[in-house]
Amino acid sequence: MGVGMDRPRFRADLLAWYDAGHRDLPWRRTRDPYRVWVSEVMLQQTRVETVVPFYERFLARFPTVASLAAADEEEVLRAWEGLGYYARARHLRAAARAVVARGGFPRDVEGLARLPGVGRSTAGAIASIAFGRPSAVLDGNVRRVLCRLAAVAEDPRRPAVARRLWALAEELLDRGDPGRYNQALMELGATVCLPRDPACGRCPVARHCRARALGIAADLPVPPPRRVLPHHEVAVGVVWRDGQVLIARRPPQGLLGGLWEFPGGKRAAGESLEACVAREVREELGVEVAVGERLAVVRHAYTHFRVTVHAFECRYLRGEPRAVGCADWRWVRPEALGAYPMPRANRRILAALAGGSGTGGPEARRGGG
Ligand code: SF4
Repeated sequence: MGVGMDRPRFRADLLAWYDAGHRDLPWRRTRDPYRVWVSEVMLQQTRVETVVPFYERFLARFPTVASLAAADEEEVLRAWEGLGYYARARHLRAAARAVVARGGFPRDVEGLARLPGVGRSTAGAIASIAFGRPSAVLDGNVRRVLCRLAAVAEDPRRPAVARRLWALAEELLDRGDPGRYNQALMELGATVCLPRDPACGRCPVARHCRARALGIAADLPVPPPRRVLPHHEVAVGVVWRDGQVLIARRPPQGLLGGLWEFPGGKRAAGESLEACVAREVREELGVEVAVGERLAVVRHAYTHFRVTVHAFECRYLRGEPRAVGCADWRWVRPEALGAYPMPRANRRILAALAGGSGTGGPEARRGGG
């Protein structure tokens, strides 16, 4: 990619700025690979301000990799609830078990990247921060900074461009102090080289930046092609029997895997929402219900699609529940639902029911779960 910069001066400028005062984040106070790893995974799709309290609660609950490995999946999902992108939590637990089984963390990028849910960038962060290995990082923040430093005017998600960016990341890496350097670069992306409005006027590496010289910093990185998210109508049943409500557990793999929810699913073409609820409850649990009034409408956006969820009150008619199209089921008193990890849309249905906000529906919100 041949950025043609004075690399030693670039590193020195960056590190001097970092040392002069960076944010005091809890994972910066440790070189424990377990803690570094948990923070990196939490930060993958979530903002720092959101992560800090989750990180502290998670580590109070699972203080060591052994305690995480010994936990059951539901406990881990419960501790993760609200962070979204639940595959991260399942991978974290699976990787903890792998680490315990092999007697400790791998110390190099290749070994770390073989752990479930650990990509090359996360492996690079752990190897450099915890073990001082000279391995580069290319997370979202670093990718943006590098695109601007080298004035890369192509979509960085394209494989060929991504390969060049990795090569540049390796070229610029400070091999003498890779952990501090990687944290400094991530900090620069998070606090100065911001997505919409890069603060070039106070940037410690502005003199090395080609995009700034060309006056195109705010136009980079090139955004991905616009896409319209598909939308699905979903109907779910709040099925009552003897003061208890019926919940189903999603299969362990896939979107929101292992979480509990009100039974339901996507409306088929030409189907009424009421017919959809009755069919879905039957297909998931083998139970017949009478569908009553609509209790709430919740709109929710996932990464790749949007849903409008219609929740209907249902009266149980017949059939003992069986896990036909789900992983498990329970009759639960409403006050005990808090103990079950649930996707955010389901929590919002509960909130709508408790608050009596009915079909007006809470505001739409983007999130991973
Ligand atoms: Fe980012 Fe501006 Fe600094 Fe370049 S000069 S790295 S665009 S903040």
